[in-house]
Amino acid sequence: MIDIVANLHHIQHRIETTCQQCERNKESVTLIAVSKSHSADQIAKLYAAGQHHFGENYLNEALSKITLLPTDILWHFIGTIQSKKTLEIAQNFSWVHTVCRLKEAQLLSQHRQGMPPLNICLQVKMEDDPKRNGIYASELMNLLKPIQDLPHLRLRGLMVLPPLVEALTEQRAYFQALHSLLVHCNQQGANLDTLSMGMTHDIDAAILEGATMVRIGTGIFGPREI
Ligand SMILES: *Cc1c(COP(=O)(O)O)cnc(C)c1O
Repeated sequence: MIDIVANLHHIQHRIETTCQQCERNKESVTLIAVSKSHSADQIAKLYAAGQHHFGENYLNEALSKITLLPTDILWHFIGTIQSKKTLEIAQNFSWVHTVCRLKEAQLLSQHRQGMPPLNICLQVKMEDDPKRNGIYASELMNLLKPIQDLPHLRLRGLMVLPPLVEALTEQRAYFQALHSLLVHCNQQGANLDTLSMGMTHDIDAAILEGATMVRIGTGIFGPREI
């Protein structure tokens, strides 16, 4: 049996140690427990242990759990956005990390009317790969202003899902590039405060390069069966 609460504590400790190593405050890193394919019961166990941020990739699966769980959980949508699902995403999540197009952002904003602004990150890709989701760095600057002008969204930062590499130096280089891009956006007046980067296999590299939100699934819940 996997003890998910023990795993949670282990990851919290790891965040703390890595923060010490680079002289960051551990409160500067928010842990999102990525609960895709895991049950509402398991989420409730982590919630009881003090974990309040959860990430989900698939809307229908997420909605079935959201309705069963406490209303003060902060839900983060980290999956691919389909335009026809933007209403339910906008109304059930606090954060959306995977905005890749202006059109999606416009729909999310429209559907968020009457609620506090929806926090969003733009998903960026640093390599030239048409099959991957994300905005190229070269296109990012043109999107900042129109997205910031949307009334019911709050553009918080950048998110990345890097290609799988094992070496710490390679992982760090990728995250450092995203961090530089954020600095560049802020030099253009963007005022972004969030770097959503780091998963189970590259959490240390991400924190060392300035991640403010890490998204951890396997490291807490164990391997997924699907
Ligand atoms: C599944 C997923 C994660 C968590 O990955 P693990 O390797 O299980 O920690 C993080 N971010 C996104 C976007 C994911 O889809």
